[in-house]
Amino acid sequence: MSNDLKDKTVKELEQIIAGLGQKKYLAEYIFQFIHAEDVTDILKITPLSKALREQLIENDYHISRLNILNKLTDKDGTIKYVFGLDDGSRIETVLLLDDKRRTLCVSTQAGCKMGCVFCATGKIKFRRNLSAGEIIDQVYTVQKDSAIISNIVYMGMGEPLENYDAVVKSVQILNNPAGRNIGIRHITVSTCGLAPAIKKLAYENVRPRLAISLNAPTDELRTSLMPINKKYPIAKLLDAVRTYQIKLKERVTFEYVMIKCINDTLLHAGQLVKLLRGIKCNVNLIEYNPHGGCKFKGSGTEQISHFAEVIEEAGIENTIRLKKGSSICAACGQLGANLNNVQSTGDSIKNE
Ligand code: SF4
Repeated sequence: MSNDLKDKTVKELEQIIAGLGQKKYLAEYIFQFIHAEDVTDILKITPLSKALREQLIENDYHISRLNILNKLTDKDGTIKYVFGLDDGSRIETVLLLDDKRRTLCVSTQAGCKMGCVFCATGKIKFRRNLSAGEIIDQVYTVQKDSAIISNIVYMGMGEPLENYDAVVKSVQILNNPAGRNIGIRHITVSTCGLAPAIKKLAYENVRPRLAISLNAPTDELRTSLMPINKKYPIAKLLDAVRTYQIKLKERVTFEYVMIKCINDTLLHAGQLVKLLRGIKCNVNLIEYNPHGGCKFKGSGTEQISHFAEVIEEAGIENTIRLKKGSSICAACGQLGANLNNVQSTGDSIKNE
């Protein structure tokens, strides 16, 4: 079990404090100082007695902080952070600027096992799951370095629902009013389609918004793009989405990466309309972002517009997502594409 206090819920902190023979209520100060005040030095949690602070340090407790290895800024304002973890793993986190919205796309795993063929992350070796503390600290470190963040999307490296416990815990901590107090409607978890985990999430005490990386309207095509579809075919996935929607009472987002001549014809658009009929949703159409590990091409603006018209006419809300951060490999599906080239300098480097 990790000794990182950032990784703990209030309940877990209470257990630690009680284990040290102290009063449980002191855990609330620790939580508040770490998550609301962004303190990373146990000695600065001044409501605790000096003896207790020293006792925590003697017992190897600490408060983690991610190490910024690199920071790249695209001309459209997108910022990509490369973070180094304690074990030498590297992850990427992207800050997207869109009018007043500042959306942070966080990673949940170092690498990914899902193997979606269009995704750069799926091509790098899976190292490990991130802890809740490491997920949360992407938010805190970027907030400290750059700006206020209005929305958080779990859409970076890794499949969030494969790291279920840490992801749910991180959402609970980010949403806790005693900490950062980020509204649950401002947090979105995206999945490639782990149907049983979606159903499980529907019964948690905090339910973030849900996004499904769909990318194909038929099982045959989806399985060829996303191997997970073999295990959880579209019917099973949509059944889980319906369960989630009943509990959430909010529309669900379907992500659809537009790949030239693969999934972007008007026939595909018609099949998508049939598939999503009756589901309260929004479809995000995202042009495929090329990267070294894959020969696909993006559909182009014209084809995406035709596709959008077909689904729009059928009453399916949709948004054409502009390409963001592609020059720094920060766009959707590109994370991890350059990880092997990043130097571990320990400094923050701005590349404008
Ligand atoms: S799209 Fe998501 S789930 Fe698929 S390989 Fe990439 S990171 Fe993993």
